[in-house]
Amino acid sequence: MLNLHTLMRATPTNIASNASHVNVLKKNAWVEKDDKGEHKVFTAEMLSVGPDKKPRNVTIKLYGTRTASGRMKRKTKHPAWVHCDCEYFLYYCEVAVTARGSSSVITSNGNFPKIRNPRMRPYLCKHLLRATREAWKEKPKKRQVSRLTEPELSDMVRMVQPFIPR
Ligand SMILES: [Zn+2]
Repeated sequence: MLNLHTLMRATPTNIASNASHVNVLKKNAWVEKDDKGEHKVFTAEMLSVGPDKKPRNVTIKLYGTRTASGRMKRKTKHPAWVHCDCEYFLYYCEVAVTARGSSSVITSNGNFPKIRNPRMRPYLCKHLLRATREAWKEKPKKRQVSRLTEPELSDMVRMVQPFIPR
């Protein structure tokens, strides 16, 4: 898994300048644990200024040390898992970043980005790059079951299933 800093640094400069035209509509953060350890999950709806009127959904999972308040330590390099549902991430980033263990094939067909990113460089789209700023500082909250998404709910059901008496 790559550090979030590594992904940010590898992002092309034109994407970095486009990121300044992206706004955060809704954001949320909470703490979870999986086989790679405890991590902060940051999700947000991002909207770029301009013709693209569709909000994009980003997820950044930051692994590693947390301070007592649940905030991430700024200076530490955090291994990260990232995803965005925009076309750019789909065609340029998803497979390349997944190959380095920092994303998963969710939107694309998993084929190598032969034309758009032939060297398979792992980097971020403008929505994710803009979201990194928020992801560091967003304080994790306790989650309400009513706010879980469908996949999260079915995950939860799968986890508790063995413990439900028949
Ligand atoms: Zn994106």
